[in-house]
Amino acid sequence: MFRVLIRLYLITIITYSAAIFLIPKLVIQLFEHRYMDYNVEQTRGQQTLIVKQYLRTPVERWSQVTEQLGRDFAPLKVQLLLRQDASYTPEEEKLLEQGKPVIRLGEWGWVADVSSPINQQFVVKLIVPPDPLDMNLLYWSMNVLIGAALLACLLVWLRPHWRDLERLKTTAAHLGQGNLSERTRIPPSSNIGSLASVFDTMADDIEHLLNQQRDLLNAVSHELRTPLTRLDFGLALALSEDLPQASRERLQSLVAHIRELDDLVLELLSYSRLQNPAQLPERVDVVLDEFIDSVLGSVDDEMENPEIVIDVALDCAVERFVLDPRLTARALQNLLRNATRYCDKRIQVGVKVCPKGCEICVDDDGIGIPLDQRERIFEPFYRLDRSRDRATGGFGLGLAISRRAAEAQGGTLTALASPLGGARFRLWLPAAGA
Ligand code: ADP
Repeated sequence: MFRVLIRLYLITIITYSAAIFLIPKLVIQLFEHRYMDYNVEQTRGQQTLIVKQYLRTPVERWSQVTEQLGRDFAPLKVQLLLRQDASYTPEEEKLLEQGKPVIRLGEWGWVADVSSPINQQFVVKLIVPPDPLDMNLLYWSMNVLIGAALLACLLVWLRPHWRDLERLKTTAAHLGQGNLSERTRIPPSSNIGSLASVFDTMADDIEHLLNQQRDLLNAVSHELRTPLTRLDFGLALALSEDLPQASRERLQSLVAHIRELDDLVLELLSYSRLQNPAQLPERVDVVLDEFIDSVLGSVDDEMENPEIVIDVALDCAVERFVLDPRLTARALQNLLRNATRYCDKRIQVGVKVCPKGCEICVDDDGIGIPLDQRERIFEPFYRLDRSRDRATGGFGLGLAISRRAAEAQGGTLTALASPLGGARFRLWLPAAGA
């Protein structure tokens, strides 16, 4: 907020200072005659009295009159001048000729000096000296106070705007994190009320659409499971009968296809369940090495290549951490399964706990992931070109599920390059109070 305030304030102050400096000059230039006339009217009485003082006295004593007037008018200065000695312009000469005073304007259109003719030879000049320092200081303090009042005014005006904009920003961030029920709740009376109301309507529509999509995915997946189970059961029955070898092999490949379809439906169901914001994560205090061992145990059973070596590096003073064991195990299993698929022969699991949270890295020495694909691989059904062959990969849902499992606990999952040469997946879970 302060950056906006300072920028706005600087612009206002610079404009104000420039205006104060330039506008009076321009106005005085444009209306010079009016200013002159006004000042002539204002000083007429004073000038007549001064001239009378001289005319009343013989010429030889005029210097004494000047001294006396100088004392009386101090700090203004009085000068008695010969007309040809004083440097007047032809127009000023003409005015003096007509017996009129000549006025020169200073700052803000005030009189700087005024000369009145006494006779054909002499003029008396009254000079107004520049303002004394204390008056100048007072003038500048007045400007500083006006500036401060402007700042206070801007602050009062900006505060509610700032508060509402902050609320809009937080709501947008929460919506982006999947909290679809979040709304700005900014009253229509606010200056950004109409913007906030459009934003809330948009959020309503997004929530509605995503809920519809999730419900549809859920319903379709559920509906698919029943006929798939029936088919599986029917094929198992058919296989139990005495069949020629070719028919048996065809039926067995059909069973494999159905199992694959069933796996996809199960993945879809878990993905759509993780999309449900109403499901709050569990908070269980686990012993980290035991937890990692149990996850590794479940992946070990599925490992096809027995030459793969899995190292675990536990680098933490605290051995326990509060997390959702089901979601975290799900995320880690997917990462480890991928690592076993894509590694050459080494996988490393590194665990670090700090007061802010827990970091679990799964590294492998495989082909790695190109930099420009490291975000896209988390999109559902996204698979890199080289793994289009179903033999090397799954359905492209594993990483999307893992990321959702991390985010459901307030954490993150990112793909990086591993020091082992392949891919590194960094799972970050914040500590309960962080
Ligand atoms: P899949 O079920 O196809 O493995 P995932 O969502 O788990 O789907 O992964 C998406 C894509 O990310 C994979 O197709 C694969 O190309 C790439 N990938 C995932 N893990 C690794 C890894 N450890 N090394 C290299 N590529 C990987």
